[in-house]
Amino acid sequence: MNNAEVIVIGAGIVGAACADVLSERGMRVAIVEQDIAGGGATAAGMGHLVVMDDNPAELALSAYSVALWKDLVGDRPQRHEYSGCGTIWVAADEEEMEAALAKAHTLAGHGVQCEMLTPATLYAREPQLRAGLAGGLLVKGDGLVYPPKTARILLDRAIRRGAVTKRATVTAIEDHGVVLSDGTRHQAQHIVLAAGVRSGALLPELPLQPKKGHLAITDRYPGFVKHQLVELGYIKSAHAASGDSVAFNLQPRPTGQILIGSSRQFDTVDPAVEPAMLQRMLQHAATFTPRLADLNVLRTWTGFRSATPDGLPLIGPGATRRGLWLATGHEGLGITTSLATAQLLAAQIQNQKTRIPLAPYLPGRFHA
Ligand SMILES: Cc1cc2nc3c(=O)[nH]c(=O)nc-3n(C[C@H](O)[C@H](O)[C@H](O)COP(=O)(O)OP(=O)(O)OC[C@H]3O[C@@H](n4cnc5c(N)ncnc54)[C@H](O)[C@@H]3O)c2cc1C
Repeated sequence: MNNAEVIVIGAGIVGAACADVLSERGMRVAIVEQDIAGGGATAAGMGHLVVMDDNPAELALSAYSVALWKDLVGDRPQRHEYSGCGTIWVAADEEEMEAALAKAHTLAGHGVQCEMLTPATLYAREPQLRAGLAGGLLVKGDGLVYPPKTARILLDRAIRRGAVTKRATVTAIEDHGVVLSDGTRHQAQHIVLAAGVRSGALLPELPLQPKKGHLAITDRYPGFVKHQLVELGYIKSAHAASGDSVAFNLQPRPTGQILIGSSRQFDTVDPAVEPAMLQRMLQHAATFTPRLADLNVLRTWTGFRSATPDGLPLIGPGATRRGLWLATGHEGLGITTSLATAQLLAAQIQNQKTRIPLAPYLPGRFHA
């Protein structure tokens, strides 16, 4: 580990992707992970690969990353438990149809393939949806993966190129170095912080806040739904900066199981499943797909998103230590944006050009 040029803290999807790209670019990489690789938010999340367009920077990053995911998955989708199911943004009323149309224009302008759905074409694709919906928008290139598996694949690729892993907890970050819980110090020219929601424990000055989420998964009901279904109202929920909210978000896993999301809560770091919040989320989902109420839920869990004030991740130099780089704060989109994050970070470390403009993601935007 002491031979490393880069020490990556955290082997979630973001740290694993960084290790993969840095090692591919010929750097000597060490990864420090205190637990199981991919066992943090990466295992808790839904694994929806989705182009989001709340602002141009989010659109640029997510579209870039979804394209990288397609390259990574290639002709071996089963390895990543990938499904190119697409997303249907469900519009409950005419106002949401207008939002769907605006979204379609924005995405199409960025080369993302979409199709507006009338009620008839919506129900033809998803007969389980309740009657009376206004229509929707199908985004064809979106998909889903099983993120812990991909994190492992990326990490193994880095290891095959000579990267080393160490199971340990980083207790402090210093200039060009880290301190581990056994008291040992390890130096490297570059330190990449990719510790997800725990990044703030190492650097409390970072503008990060945990956002708790609940998920539930059913038994196998192949074909119950065929696309990732998300209500357009989700956007309001995802943007909320305080308060608790739920949104309809249903995912057909390749196993035939239905993954049900999602909730957002601030001001809590308690990982316990909260029956009231879970009930609210499930009841809300059943208002969109009534027969969901007849399915058996096998397991429920929670996870924490690491949120910045503007909803965009921190990708770039950290101000408070020399040699420090941040790859954190990916909120509810970090599976999607992990691969582009790694490319943007590696290019900065190696002083090379990036595919998309960096400014919106630079941590320095919060320094003022
Ligand atoms: C309910 C929910 C649903 C979501 N759904 C989606 C979705 O559908 N699509 C999407 O794109 N994103 C989704 N996300 C977001 C996504 O899961 C995260 O943004 C992403 O997993 C973050 O990855 P990470 O590698 O930064 O963090 P993590 O996966 O948490 O990895 C960080 C790693 O760092 C390690 N670590 C932390 N501190 C230390 C330390 N001091 N020393 C050593 N190791 C340390 C941890 O053990 C962990 O393994 C969802 C999140 C939640 C909670």
